[in-house]
Amino acid sequence: MHELALTENIIAGVAERVEGARVTRVVLQIGKLSGVVPEAVRFCFDVCAAGTALEGASLEIVEIPARAICRSCKSTIELSDMIALCSCGSANLRMLSGNELRVKEVEVL
Ligand SMILES: [Zn+2]
Repeated sequence: MHELALTENIIAGVAERVEGARVTRVVLQIGKLSGVVPEAVRFCFDVCAAGTALEGASLEIVEIPARAICRSCKSTIELSDMIALCSCGSANLRMLSGNELRVKEVEVL
C-alpha cells in the first residue's frame, strides 16, 4: 500500500512548509492515471496527521480527469484507464493531465 508512504510524505512536506502553523485544511489534486487511490489516501490521512501540524485538518481531494491530445487527428480525448487509444485508432497521444499528485491548497490558522 504505497498510499501510506505517500500520505506520510505529503504531510511531512506540508508540515515543514507551514513552519509550526496549525493546518486546518488541505486540498490535494490526484490524477486519474497517477495510480493513487483517493480513498486510500483519505484513509491514511488522519492516522498520519496525528501528532503533526496537520492533526485534525480536513482533507479535500480533487480528482483530475486524464486527458490527452491525439497526434494523428488532433482531437482531445478523455481517458478512463491506462489503455490510451483515440477513437481514430491511434495510440500516438500526448498526455495533458491525469498524472498529477500535488498539494493545491493549504489553509492555516
Ligand atoms: Zn485520433
